[in-house]
Amino acid sequence: MIPADKALQRLRQGNETFRSGKGFHLEIETLLKLNSQKGQNPFAIILGCSDSRVPAEIIFGQGIGDLFVIRVAGNIVAPSQIASIEFAAENFGTRLVVVLGHSRCGAVQATLEQLDRPVTNSSPRR
Ligand SMILES: [Zn+2]
Repeated sequence: MIPADKALQRLRQGNETFRSGKGFHLEIETLLKLNSQKGQNPFAIILGCSDSRVPAEIIFGQGIGDLFVIRVAGNIVAPSQIASIEFAAENFGTRLVVVLGHSRCGAVQATLEQLDRPVTNSSPRR
């Protein structure tokens, strides 16, 4: 188990590498081999947006098995997301949970627009 402060440091270093444009590149065979040898041992849990521009493994420079990622538009928390976070923390001993927001989020923008101009053809609510 990696302590939360060390896990956060690893994420920051990976993100610095990503932002520098000097990201790593591994062949798919290498990734699959590493995956089968390591199993799942994520050092961080990420609650992020479903937006296709913010894939956690890539922006943090991590590989398969390193992160337990829950993605939902707008990175909101509902009971199912909380249960997923609890599952990872309990089963893998993961100590760091990151709620990852991002700029120009379409889900947040759509919510704000909906509040300004409610539509009448939305999904039924309970
Ligand atoms: Zn978003």
